[in-house]
Amino acid sequence: MVKIAFFDAKDYDINSFNEENKKYGYEITYFKNKLSSETAPLAKDHDVVCIFVNDLVDKETLKILQEGNVRIVALRCAGYNNIDLDNLPGKIKVVRVPDYSPYAVAEHTVGLLLSLNRRIYKAYQRAKKYNFSLDGLLGYDIHGKTVGVIGTGRIGKAFINIMNGFGTNVIAYDIYPDEESTKTLNFKYVSLDELFKSSDIISLHCPLTKETNHIINKESMLKMKDGVVILNTSRGKLINTKDLIKMMEKGKISGLGLDVYEEEEKYFLNDMSNSYIRDEELSILLSMPNVVITSHQAFFTKEALDGIVSTTFSNIKDVMEKGGSVNEIKK
Ligand code: NAD
Repeated sequence: MVKIAFFDAKDYDINSFNEENKKYGYEITYFKNKLSSETAPLAKDHDVVCIFVNDLVDKETLKILQEGNVRIVALRCAGYNNIDLDNLPGKIKVVRVPDYSPYAVAEHTVGLLLSLNRRIYKAYQRAKKYNFSLDGLLGYDIHGKTVGVIGTGRIGKAFINIMNGFGTNVIAYDIYPDEESTKTLNFKYVSLDELFKSSDIISLHCPLTKETNHIINKESMLKMKDGVVILNTSRGKLINTKDLIKMMEKGKISGLGLDVYEEEEKYFLNDMSNSYIRDEELSILLSMPNVVITSHQAFFTKEALDGIVSTTFSNIKDVMEKGGSVNEIKK
């Protein structure tokens, strides 16, 4: 019997994984805690740990997992920046869900943009109070604007496709440009500096790596147009939050849409409304009138969740029965 220790379990995870598990009959123990070196002993004698975006699998955690006979780390997400692959013991395999629904994330990114540019978040709250005035709600057409996309993988391309429909001028930067895709989608590759200089709207769709950590910082923001809109539905650490707040306070950025935040681990995906613990920088951003923040929910559609569940189980089955999976991450 395959034993799975499932960390950072939410009710929606438990319901959907239990349903799919009827096909597999694995033994799943759900833990509300995130995986870290402190909680890793809970996984002792389980074959698999199943984790999400904010579980931390560092060197110490890997050591404890190995000593506890864990053989698979199954990520139920695409990004894998939270795993210290350099210290991955040979006996542990890491699998992920690379492709559950790029549309979910791309569409949520557009949702943030529309909310920002037409002040829908403000209008919604006003209308609730029977205030139907338009003062302060003046927006702008997205049509005709230059949209800069950093990272043209699955999600970046899905986002470009939607932006094409809006009639925008799309420019993009990727360390591995996919020139073929410029034949089917309407965009062109430019240098990162050119993208910073020319974009009215910048959307981040690259993974978090050593190179992309703080790709948005004081220096890069100074290169941007005054009044630029920044959207981040990728990973919080792509943006240097301290620098971002300074630039927001100077009025450099006219709109900020975040689904991820540099220090989100302690807060996002949890109801913290009754807690006195507050993150100072997050609180500053939340207090600003031109900021919309969602809690790492861009992936959260029924289709994406179904894809995550079915791929996670098939990844585990492939490694347990065949010794490997197409979705394995190598060092
Ligand atoms: P992908 O692997 O298909 O595409 C990533 C692209 O980024 C690739 O084309 C790659 O070449 C490019 N890239 C890598 N390093 C780069 C660099 N230094 N500069 C510019 N481009 C670079 O991944 P994807 O499925 O499109 O997902 C992108 C990211 O979105 C994930 O890594 C993850 O962090 C994030 N994500 C967020 C959510 C959410 O719910 N908010 C959900 C899924 C994924």
